[in-house]
Formats: sequence, C-alpha cells, structure tokens
Amino acid sequence: MKIVVKFGGTSVADIACIENAADKVAAEVQRGNQVAVVVSAMSGVTNQLVSFCGDIAPDFDAQEYDAVVSSGENVTSGLMALALQKRGISARSWQGWQVPIICDDVHGKARIADIQPEKMNAALDGGQVAVLAGFQGVTSDGRIATLGRGGSDTTAVALAAALEADRCDIYTDVNGVYTTDPRIVRKAQKLDRISYEEMLEMASLGAKVLQTRSVEMAMKRNVPLQVLSTFEDGIGSDLPGTLVTREEDIVEKQIVNGVTYQKGEAKVTLLNVPDIPGMSAKIFGPLTDASINVDMIVQNISQNGESTDMTFTVPRADLDSALDALQACPELKDTEIHTDKNVVKVSVIGIGMRSHAGVAQTMFQALADKGINIQVISTSEIKISVLVSADYTELAVRALHSAYGLESE
Ligand code: ASP
Ligand code: MG
Repeated sequence: MKIVVKFGGTSVADIACIENAADKVAAEVQRGNQVAVVVSAMSGVTNQLVSFCGDIAPDFDAQEYDAVVSSGENVTSGLMALALQKRGISARSWQGWQVPIICDDVHGKARIADIQPEKMNAALDGGQVAVLAGFQGVTSDGRIATLGRGGSDTTAVALAAALEADRCDIYTDVNGVYTTDPRIVRKAQKLDRISYEEMLEMASLGAKVLQTRSVEMAMKRNVPLQVLSTFEDGIGSDLPGTLVTREEDIVEKQIVNGVTYQKGEAKVTLLNVPDIPGMSAKIFGPLTDASINVDMIVQNISQNGESTDMTFTVPRADLDSALDALQACPELKDTEIHTDKNVVKVSVIGIGMRSHAGVAQTMFQALADKGINIQVISTSEIKISVLVSADYTELAVRALHSAYGLESE
C-alpha cells in the first residue's frame, strides 16, 4: 500500500515526540508500505513566527510573512528525516518547492493549484520515505507561500491525491472522531467510520478535528482519510482511528452519527416587517454586502397580509455590524429589532436520515422531555439543527446523544 501520514504540531512538539512519530512511520515501512510523511511545525512555533513578523511591522509584507512562517515545517521535515535514518530507514526531507507543490499567489492563505508527483514517486519507488514540509508551496513566480493556518492537513490530502495513495492518515492528539464532545458526554463513542458529508457537517459545526478544506478535498478526490492518535499504540494500517470515507463504503449506516453544538451564534428577531415582495432581498442584501454569514432563517406567515415577523442567526462577532446594516435599511423604519446572544445551535447529523422518517420527532420529543424550548429549527438532508437557550447546552447535547442511542455501554 501507498500511504501518506501526517503529523500535526502536538505530534512533533519536541524531540521525544518526533522519535515517537518516527516509530509509527518505521512500523509502516516494516509492513512493506510506501510512505510519504507530511509534518507540521512543532506546536507553538508557527504562532511564535507570526508574532515575530508583527513585532517588526504590524503591516508586514505578505511574501516575507510566508518566508518566515513556512520555516517551522522545514525544521520538522529535516528532523523527521534524521529520526528515520537513525532507525535504518532511507529518508529524505522535501520542501514544497522541491516537489514542487505549485500554489496561487494569495500569500498567507494560498491554494494548491498543482502537485507534480513524479520526483517524489521516484523516491518512493526507490524505497525511500519522503518527508514533506506541510503548509507551504511555491508560486509561479518562484516565491514561497503558505496555505492558511492548519494548512498541513490540506497538504497531506492533496499529496495523497497526487500520489494516488491508498489512504491518508492524520495523526493528532485525539484518537478519532466522536459521536459528541466527550467533555460533555462521558459515554461519547469513537466512530470507526464516518462519511465525508457527515465529517464536513461535524467540522463546520464546531467539531474541530480536521481543517474543513482538507475534508472537502478528500471528498472531491476520493481519498480515504483516517484520524488517529500519535500517543496511543497502534499504527494507521491497523485502522485504530476514525476512517472518513465514501458513503458507499459504510455498511452500517447509522441514522444519527453525531450531536454537535455551536456557541458563538446570535439571534435577531424582526417584528413588524412589511409583507411585500422583495423584503428578504432588502434585508439580507446589506448583510451580504457586510460579509455577514446568515445561518438559520424563519419567516412567519403574515396574519393580516401587511406585516410579518422574521428570525435569523448571525455569528455573535458580527451582531453589531448586522444591527448597523439593518438600522440603515429604510424599509425597516417601523420594524422592532430584538437580539439574543444567549443561544446555542445544537445539531444531529447522520446519513441514515435520508432514508428514515421520524428523526426530527425524536429530537423534538427528547428536548420537550427536558423542558427545553426550541426557538428556531433548520434542516438539511443529513442534519437537523435547533436553536435553544445556551443555558441548556449540556442538557440538550446529553439528552439527544442518549435519545439516538449513541452512548457506549
Ligand atoms: N503550522 C501551521 C499552523 O500552525 C500549519 C499546520 O500546523 O497545519 O497553522
Ligand atoms: Mg493542525
């Protein structure tokens, strides 16, 4: 098998960690696998490099920022190659430009445009482990660019796709993706498998395991992705973590696989909005212009044919600018605007929802049994979200996790 293994910052935090990570790679090589490694910078290093730039000039030049912050990964790629050589394994470090990994010139958050895999493939075919510095690429002008914070995940998935690897293993400090936040529900279970779509919902709803962009790319390029722990026994090929894969490859489709919660939302209610064509466009247009991402939206049916009420959510950080935009809207001069920051969006996610009825009812009943009032509801094919008072975050998550039978014995 050909595998790409990626180690995040905590997995290469110091020399002992790098040695431990090298042991995992060595075990894969001993199994006869071809291995390409992608490394992050040692944890804390990128933050430090970023702050160095700011110390010199708050309005630093983006190209030089990239020259500085990309260097953390260069260090770990060389150290990893040394650690592998010490284990009797032929290994070489690679920086982005050496592959090359070609990216656009949006410095600080560049996107990978192309990976030319021939040279690295030749090295792998020659029995060598290739250790690539994550998070970086080279522009068509030959300048170094970085891929945005957390970008090594994307490097790893893109490399796996370019090398046509069988799997991409993301070693990190958690041992997989859980049915919910284990800090809230002690009996949360590690999932063996989850679909790309579910993982994307979990990631964008606040389960911070993988950079969202990397999951999107894995889905598009059909790269099976495993999240697993660097600090537990077992290597990727034993599949100890959570495999993120195509829906077709998941035999037992759970109706609900995860319960997530997202704080940091705010609710806006507009009372007495004129009930005329074009009102929604007039309300949300200015919010779009202000780059405010509106999420859940409900509009009531008008009772009198003249006015109606509307509720929606925006990121809490954008609430003030949302209010500015709404108050500047002439059509809303007779509208009362209410806001509430003490809300949380709780969601249940599962591909099995597509083919099962009654999933929403289970959710509503479980919340009703706990006396939790639902303020807003929104649904998609594989997700149901409700907005409730933030005071009930834990209670709601626990109730739903148990209502869908997700608890471990
Ligand atoms: N070192 C970079 C960061 O901290 C990239 C990464 O770790 O994925 O954002
Ligand atoms: Mg990371």
